[in-house]
Amino acid sequence: MEAIFATHNNHKLHEVAQMLPSWLHLHSLNDIGLTEEIIEDGNSLEENALIKARYVFSKNPSADMAFADDTGLEVDALNGAPGIYSARYAGEHCSFKDNVDKLLRELQDFQDPELRRARFRTVIALILNGGEEHLFSGVVEGVIAADPRGIDGFGYDPIFIPDGFGESFSEMPLALKNSISHRGKAFRNMKQFLETRTEDEKR
Ligand code: IMP
Repeated sequence: MEAIFATHNNHKLHEVAQMLPSWLHLHSLNDIGLTEEIIEDGNSLEENALIKARYVFSKNPSADMAFADDTGLEVDALNGAPGIYSARYAGEHCSFKDNVDKLLRELQDFQDPELRRARFRTVIALILNGGEEHLFSGVVEGVIAADPRGIDGFGYDPIFIPDGFGESFSEMPLALKNSISHRGKAFRNMKQFLETRTEDEKR
């Protein structure tokens, strides 16, 4: 089966391919020659994931399926910010470090770890069978560290310490991060759905 994943990031494509059934042949937006940026102007992760998946599916109606993911970091003390604005929290074209620095500044008055509670949330929108839509999600709870820790990973990894661990996402091996992360959980949910459905269709 041929599936299009709405990403330009080949690293993400490779990472996600390892979390999905091997009979699913994944293609990125680069693979299908879709170079334009998709405008994500929804009001929630769900809306943004659907906007991307629908757009890609409309451009490739013959594909068996298309899917898109959207992730946000929600900090309780900031009423859920940066949320859907996680990628551009410090402004358009900002770096990961700009976002981390801004978040640490915003949390200056909240030094007690209990006041720095946060979670990553991923939503995946999947479209198959000519238009049938499904949503999957994954959440990991944790706290925002006082300072960046570790050099691996991306985004807010250096300042996110998942519950039950003493290290940030940046300090842990990628396999461990994937086994507990928001994105890992969301993609395992989608994998389970696809496997169950395929088994049902064989019966
Ligand atoms: P996206 O929807 O996957 O592009 O994620 C939006 C933004 O959330 C990214 O630009 C990152 O800043 C942040 N983000 C998403 N996933 C992670 C993660 O696993 N670790 C750290 N930051 C992340």
